[in-house]
Amino acid sequence: MKIIKDYHIHSIYSKNGHGKSTPEEDVIKGSEIGLVEMAISDHGHRHYLYGIKKDNIKKLHEEIKELNKKYKNINVLQGIEANMLSYDGDSDIDDLVKNNCDIIMGGFHYGVRFKDLKTFYRIYILNFLGKFSIKINKYITKLNTEAVINFMKKNKIKILTHPGEKIPVNIRDVAKAAVEEDVILEINASHKHLSEDDLKCIKDIDVKLIIGSDAHHKDNIGKYEVAINRIEKSGFPIDNVINVEV
Ligand SMILES: [Zn+2]
Ligand SMILES: [Zn+2]
Repeated sequence: MKIIKDYHIHSIYSKNGHGKSTPEEDVIKGSEIGLVEMAISDHGHRHYLYGIKKDNIKKLHEEIKELNKKYKNINVLQGIEANMLSYDGDSDIDDLVKNNCDIIMGGFHYGVRFKDLKTFYRIYILNFLGKFSIKINKYITKLNTEAVINFMKKNKIKILTHPGEKIPVNIRDVAKAAVEEDVILEINASHKHLSEDDLKCIKDIDVKLIIGSDAHHKDNIGKYEVAINRIEKSGFPIDNVINVEV
């Protein structure tokens, strides 16, 4: 089983040293391991620790144009890993992102300038208390699930990154909504989700999946084994995983 496309690669444009390699170093590595297509996808700008600076979105755009001229055996796309900003599904996808990025991914992260206090309370307080109370856990899982579904509905994202990572969701409901909204769910090779259990739980749903390295250093591009193992063990139909060449 070979992975031929990887859209989840961070570069030095994810600020504060979060991404370690330059886009060119990433492209050289991607091309060496036989990817036919890849995207440089840094964090959306509302991530106050790691988000790409707005000025760098255009700069990266120009850089990617040059990389495509220089490296002919691989197609390089500009991506973004946008952030969920509220339980109503707001995001940091703006016109600058839409006009420059070829592929828009999105997911839930801490460290984001959330839209309002209500969101802040739910994210930090209720999700924390949910670890100690079954009742609160049930309540916040339902709200989290609705938030992620709203996020998919409100924004034209192509890929939902690491669903269920960091905050709990009902993965079956998320998968059903992803089918309706034509969103691909990610099996993230650097995080635990989608997990083997998630995959078992949704294997009867005709949802499209993708493996993403979530590499923050060029040397992690190509490390897909953990994600592949999860799929194989779960029995999820491999034909639904769009970046695999069987
Ligand atoms: Zn992420
Ligand atoms: Zn990421």
